Amino acid sequence: MTSILETRNVGYSYGDGTEALKKVSISLDEGKKIALVGPNGAGKSTLMLMFNGILRPSAGEVLFHDRTLRYDSASLREVRRKVGMVFQNSDDQLFAPTVYQDVAFGPVNLGFPEDKVKKYAGYALQYVGLSGYERRPPHHLSGGEKKRVSIAGILAMEPEVLILDEPTSNLDPASSEEIMEMLDELNLGGKTLIISTHDVDLAYRWADDVILMEDGGVLHRGTGQEVFGDAELIRRARLKLPIVVDLYKELVGRGLLNGSKPPRNVLEFTDLLVSRTQGTTSQKVLGKIYICNVDGPDLEGIKSILEKVHVSYTGAMGTNAKIMAEQARIPLDFTYGVIDKCILKALTGKNSMIITSGGMIDHSIKRIRAYCEEFGAKIEVIKLAQPAESSMNSDTQKVLSQKESTKLIEVAQ
Ligand code: ADP
Repeated sequence: MTSILETRNVGYSYGDGTEALKKVSISLDEGKKIALVGPNGAGKSTLMLMFNGILRPSAGEVLFHDRTLRYDSASLREVRRKVGMVFQNSDDQLFAPTVYQDVAFGPVNLGFPEDKVKKYAGYALQYVGLSGYERRPPHHLSGGEKKRVSIAGILAMEPEVLILDEPTSNLDPASSEEIMEMLDELNLGGKTLIISTHDVDLAYRWADDVILMEDGGVLHRGTGQEVFGDAELIRRARLKLPIVVDLYKELVGRGLLNGSKPPRNVLEFTDLLVSRTQGTTSQKVLGKIYICNVDGPDLEGIKSILEKVHVSYTGAMGTNAKIMAEQARIPLDFTYGVIDKCILKALTGKNSMIITSGGMIDHSIKRIRAYCEEFGAKIEVIKLAQPAESSMNSDTQKVLSQKESTKLIEVAQ
């Protein structure tokens, strides 16, 4: 693993003498989803502000790509372009009279020529699903939309790392899930993501790497299962257990379940219970999961693909897919947690469809395949090729990886 950001013995005291960080030494891996968790005052925000040089350590050093951060204005400009920071309160971030001006601020400030600014800002707004909002004043937008504009402002500078302080605070559950899904999409595109949160359920299901902070230091670090599996440490940090872990521990305590590792999510929990009560899931007739790629075909193309397939449930994953589904008036049953929900439906014998695009297609297939391999299920995944792709692949209509537990069929339309 390559380290992208590192702190060595970093300490920080605010002007009033409050010691917010005490000799923090951590290394963050490139391409990971990292969550800093801890109670209020643990030092999460202060540590985040160190990563792009907004704060300068009172002791120790911060490294980006193994190089010690310098604090002259040229070095700071460079690191702030590559390590973007989204503040907790969008109103602290958004200040321009229009959405476009806000998103374009970063590239303009970096001295990009006008055509490049337009291109980057336009692309960033499209990515967050806000094309058409250019002239709107940011303060008239909803909380979720403001957060998207803040993210677009960072994306317009093409960062390698996005740091988000409490990205879901003050958002309703659907907006929160949409923001987290957008972060997943960015991560699939190769970006390193660092969030701070005291939402333990969110950190548990989302992060690859959890850093538990308390009183200006790192108390524990590892996967969600490693960190949240230690109930004593979580209590010490004045946090609660994620609901899935709490329930699992209760059932283990009562002798109804056994196992050394808590399930990661509702899907795995359900599977654990089902296999305990009914044996493995592989004995049942499972539903199929269709994957429809919206890259390329127009709305009519998508509608004609979907008309040929009959499913009980449809979900869309990613901003583009959701916009396409809305334009094509396709009713959606799932707009977040789509892959796991489709797997859950397959386990009850129902067919479902994931409408998505880009890297999310391979991600969906891998996730379903990984689930099947781990739990011995056989869910058929059918990739619906778009017209352009189907002509390209017409000689490749085949069943891929038949030896594997997941059968992937490419269906040309
Ligand atoms: P967290 O993000 O985990 O809530 P912070 O990094 O905001 O923690 O705070 C760490 C410590 O620093 C707390 O004791 C907090 O009161 C203090 N602190 C944060 N910001 C300031 C500030 N601007 N001035 C003085 N003390 C501060």
